[in-house]
Amino acid sequence: MKANYGYMDGSGEFFITINTDLCIECTHRGCVGACPAGLFEIIVDDYDDEVAAIKEDERKKLKYDCSPCKPVSDRQPLPCVVACTPGAISHSW
Ligand code: SF4
Ligand code: SF4
Repeated sequence: MKANYGYMDGSGEFFITINTDLCIECTHRGCVGACPAGLFEIIVDDYDDEVAAIKEDERKKLKYDCSPCKPVSDRQPLPCVVACTPGAISHSW
């Protein structure tokens, strides 16, 4: 399942999508430790699977939380995306 976390406002759309099907077999949970803002947590979803999610308190301010990882110039690969070797994480902006 693709779980979308985020929001849209006058300045754009700010969503992180997690393909939770890939989390089920993930043993290292790299997203949790890699994010300097601590946005990720492991939850038990509606199907009793342990999957990654964005913490509820952070979902309405992703643009600001992620801004240190997304400088206007010389942007490097995102730590969360790099750490997630199964390739479950994508960002809309
Ligand atoms: S590292 Fe990727 S696949 Fe593993 S739990 Fe985190 S989001 Fe899911
Ligand atoms: S871009 Fe940076 S702050 Fe945003 S989720 Fe990824 S690692 Fe965390």
